[in-house]
Amino acid sequence: MSTRGFTVVLFALASCAFAQAPVPGTGLASTLFRLHEMDLHLHSGMERQVSLDKWLDLAAADGRKVVVLLDHLELYRRTPAEYQAWLDKRKDVAARYPLGQAGHEALWADFERMRQRKHMVVFTGWEVSELELDEGTEPDSLLRVDMVGFHISPNNKGNAPDGPHLIRRALQVKELQKKVPRPMVLFHPFTMRVEKVQKRARLAGKSIDQIPVSDYRFFHGDEQKRLADILRGTSIYVEIGRATGACMQQPNCRQAMIEDVKPLADMGVQFTVSTDAHSVASLERTFRPETFCEPLGVTEANVNTLVRELLAYRARIATR
Ligand SMILES: [Zn+2]
Ligand SMILES: [Zn+2]
Repeated sequence: MSTRGFTVVLFALASCAFAQAPVPGTGLASTLFRLHEMDLHLHSGMERQVSLDKWLDLAAADGRKVVVLLDHLELYRRTPAEYQAWLDKRKDVAARYPLGQAGHEALWADFERMRQRKHMVVFTGWEVSELELDEGTEPDSLLRVDMVGFHISPNNKGNAPDGPHLIRRALQVKELQKKVPRPMVLFHPFTMRVEKVQKRARLAGKSIDQIPVSDYRFFHGDEQKRLADILRGTSIYVEIGRATGACMQQPNCRQAMIEDVKPLADMGVQFTVSTDAHSVASLERTFRPETFCEPLGVTEANVNTLVRELLAYRARIATR
């Protein structure tokens, strides 16, 4: 057997040793949303190209039944001149929302209206730069939404995100939740590493197929266990976004993604799925996370956990 073949067998044995425990209370398929019915990171604010009703019609047309509507928090902090320059450049968007707190309020009013939609469960959120975990953020605005996601960047101090980086962010999120008790998600950590690694290879004149599995690998040593120990049983989730599907079509990227994600799922980490759509073109593309979630061990029951938590929160505040 080749060394690679032997590694694959060893990995398969290791995966069996940590078979995923069933998620309690998820035994009835009739109570679960299908993976493609959920989009827990859907940009629906400043960058929206059509009315919010039309935007959600597009999501519904591809089967979405649960959505988290959000926008980048930092877009509302720009100066009027920066906003105008952006509008001039982005010919496809209109000045839908004012800057600052007035913009937040107008956005939330639109989102609130969407909660009346039939055949769709609507939650609200913010996407916040991970740097705000270091520098401070706007807790009052975060408290006004159902969920907060942190944008894990491919450009963090020149390095691709990796295990120690995500562990640090997870601990910071846990700390922030003491002040802002909302479910929080670490957005797209794995695909941002892939993006950075592939970009580096292209700049070096290499083809994507020459990138070894080891360059893609996110975690080393006991990092997965350490991260799982921090996240297990909490309201902190890790996103498996649509870009994961492209990675899974490249054999080395796929192998690394499985080796990075599956043990986390087996150790009880909770995940989310999303399109991270910013455009009509993106919303018109079919989203079928089933195709890439299955080999990663990211199950329907696992992803329903956040939806169930958000539903429980809505039910609880309705009883106030
Ligand atoms: Zn992002
Ligand atoms: Zn996003």
